[in-house]
Parts: sequence; C-alpha cells; structure tokens
Amino acid sequence: MTISTKLDQFHEIREKISAYRLALTTLNWDSSTIAPKKGASYRNKMAALLSGELFSITTSPEFIDLIDELSAEDLDEVMTREIRLIKKNLDKTRYIPKDVFVEYAQLTRDAENVWEKARDQQDYASFKPYLKKLIEMTKQIISFRKDTRPVYQQLIDDFETGITLADYDVFFSKLKEEIVPFLHRIIAKNIPEPAWLSRHVPIGQQRKVVDILMDYLNYEKESGYIGESAHPFSSHFSIHDNRVTVRYHEDMFTSSIFALIHEVGHATYNGQVDEVYQGSTIADSMTYGMHESQSRLYENMLGRSAQFWTSVYPKVQQCVDALSDVTLDEFILGINHVALSLIRIEADELTYPLHIMVRYEIEQGLFDGTLDVEGLDEVWNQKYMEYLGIRPPHNGLGILQDIHWSGGAFGYFPTYALGSAYSAQWMAAMKKEIDVDRCLENNDFASVNAWLKNNIHRHGGLFDPNELLLKVTGETFNPQYYVDYLKEKYSQLFGLYE
Ligand code: ZN
Repeated sequence: MTISTKLDQFHEIREKISAYRLALTTLNWDSSTIAPKKGASYRNKMAALLSGELFSITTSPEFIDLIDELSAEDLDEVMTREIRLIKKNLDKTRYIPKDVFVEYAQLTRDAENVWEKARDQQDYASFKPYLKKLIEMTKQIISFRKDTRPVYQQLIDDFETGITLADYDVFFSKLKEEIVPFLHRIIAKNIPEPAWLSRHVPIGQQRKVVDILMDYLNYEKESGYIGESAHPFSSHFSIHDNRVTVRYHEDMFTSSIFALIHEVGHATYNGQVDEVYQGSTIADSMTYGMHESQSRLYENMLGRSAQFWTSVYPKVQQCVDALSDVTLDEFILGINHVALSLIRIEADELTYPLHIMVRYEIEQGLFDGTLDVEGLDEVWNQKYMEYLGIRPPHNGLGILQDIHWSGGAFGYFPTYALGSAYSAQWMAAMKKEIDVDRCLENNDFASVNAWLKNNIHRHGGLFDPNELLLKVTGETFNPQYYVDYLKEKYSQLFGLYE
C-alpha cells in the first residue's frame, strides 16, 4: 500500500470516529442538561451501543495496524503529530491482557460505589481495601507497557505529556516554601468574609449578569450556547460549536459567575483552534494542564482582576439588587476573599494549589512505597494542618472528598495546579505584548482573545506544553511566575508589603 492510500484509509476511519464522537457528545450534553429523566434508561442503552461501536473501530486490528504503519512513515509535521497522539493512547492499553482489563474496569466501578457510600458515612476503613487494590492494579497495568520509567512518572505523563516528576517537585516545593508562609500571614489578618457574598440573588437577575459577561467576553451565540446543569461543564462539539453550562446558586451567586467564566475559558480555547484541524485529533488533544491554564486565566487572572470589572461592574450592579450598596473596591475584595477551607472545589485562588499539593505528595508516596493506605487518612489530616492550618473533623471532609482515586485517576490532580501556574506564565508573556489592563478597562476583550488565539489557541494540541511555552514565553515551564503573581496580587489586595 502506498502512503497516500494509507492516509486515505486513515482519514476515512477518522471521519467515522468523529461522527460517533459527535453523536455521543450530543447525547451526553442532552442528558446532562434538558433530557427528561424518564427517558434515561433507553437513552443510556443506545449511547452504550454507540460507545461499543466506537470502541470496536478504535481497537480494530485494521486501525491499529494502520497507525503502526503510519508511525513508521515519513509524514509532514501535522500528520506526524496526529499519529503520535493516537499511538500514545493506543500504547497505554494495547498490551494489557483482556482479563486484566475487565477486572480493572469492574474494580473501578465497584470502588466508585463503595467510595460514595464511604464518603457519606465518613468511613475511610471501608474504602481502604479498594484504594489498596486500585494502586496494585494500576501498577500491574502500567507494567504491561514497554516503558521503564517509574509508575507515577508514567501516570503523570498520561495526563500532562512531557512534564516530569522533577518539574512537579520543584513546583510544589516552591509553593511550600513561599506560598504556605505567605498564606499564614494573610490568615493572621483575620479578614472576615463580606456578608454580601451570601446575599440572595434571584436566578432572573443572575441570567442578566450572564448576558453582560458573555457580551464582554465575546462568547458568541452563533458558535456557543449556555445551558444549565447540576455541575458546570463545557462541551466541545466542533471548532464552531462549543457550549457551556451554568449552575445558579441563589445564595452564592459569585460562585455561579466564576464557574461560568471558567467554562467559557475552556470553550474559547476549543473555539479558536485553527480551522484546518477540524475533525482531527489535534483539534481536541490539548493536555489537561493546558486546558486548565486557559480556563483559570479567564476565571482568576482576568476575571478576578479589578480591571476586568471596571466597565462591567456598573452594568452588573444595575441588575443585581443585592449589590446596590457594594462598591467596586468591596466587590473586588469579596471575590478574592481568602479563607482556610477543607474542600478543594470550594477553595479560593490562593489556597487552591495547596489542596493539590496534599494530593500530589500522597500519590507520590503511594507509588514510591513511602506511604501506605494504612493510616493514610491521618497523613491527609496532618498535611492539611501543616499547609492549610485546618484539620478535617472527619474523613468525609478529608481524604474521602474527591471521586478521582476511586476511578483510578492517579496523576490527574497535579494538572489542576499546573494549569494555574502555566496561566501566570502566559499572562506575563501577554503583558509584554499588549496592555492587558487597558484592554480589560476599555471593554476590549477581543484583543485578549486575539492574543490567546495567535499564540496558544490556534495550535490546538500540535505541541506539548513545554514546547509551546518555550515558543511563546521563551522558556519552558517556570513556576516562579505563578508564585510571584500570587504574592504580588494578594499583597496588594490585603496590604501585606514588607
Ligand atoms: Zn476546568
């Protein structure tokens, strides 16, 4: 077979894969937003059938052989990348014996059920044997790969290509040395949480705020949509169709707003990928950390800045009765309030990475053998005490709070903190080229989006994070930008200059 025949064959299969994916994404969006509950069982059955078909295509000997053959060919830059991304995924699973794969799938299903009950009953003991088994099986599954790197390094690489344990070690030790003591200085100031944050804001008023924000962020109705769901998420259908959802909390309305800005950050990333990648793996294979770097740039670095709200706040204030007596300065302090918290997903921007640091250290210990599941809840509590200055009263608010480990997703957590750290590096580079503060103040978010598109978004998954960071910022990942950003921002907000 000639190269061009092979490529034709590849494109034909890839298009079929894209069609199945689009159908499944649509079904998933539908069932998380507007689909009536009663239709769930039939809908799920049909979705499972489509998933099965998709699985058959992507694991067929025909497709696997084709990928192996194409990866040995001399292709152009884009095709080389495309094939490499697909092969990386294939290599993760292809050597696992079927019985082991089936056993592992069953284990994660069981573990998720057990975890949910254990969390509600605050009972680590019942989850402990499952956690142990999950770690053992993860090690076993990794051992089938033709890769000799340490297990945890391979897991990290699954979620964030090219990032090493050494990178993370440097990153988290910087947080430990600089952000932990810095946080404790802020906490010592005993700043009370502003009462207006929990004032009641009716959904009708929040919808008006959403319209104002969408307009400001240039999130267009022609290629986007805002639905409602229990948990906010964004969904990528194609380059010109990226939707988000919002959840309205009537007594915590700023949390609805920032979750939405976050999701629009994800949607804008997918929506600004170069059109030539439509339908290709490159259009939607950005790493977890890269995606979070765009959503957190939107949510925190831009969205929680005073400049962002300069032109927006007067409009918002007109729609929200609860803000009538809240000045812009008070609003900015409120949306950046720092509090010691036990729950990761409720954490503020400053404490958030410390929640991740606890999980990273524990995962690392579990895989290098320095930690065991025995007594791990106590290890967790001690780390919370040491870094965040707060001790969980029970395991439901401690080690059992997140679903990730029950699904076997080890190595995933650190990408959440990495995303924020990347975004500080992007922000520093962007500020060298455009006056971001002025753009925000002048209602010119289009210039920010244009910079992001030209430098980051248009490439989709063409580059590994470190390759793109080097191209755009002149250096590979450097956590110092993030540490400096956090200290500068919160020193200014809370008057902490030495
Ligand atoms: Zn996100």
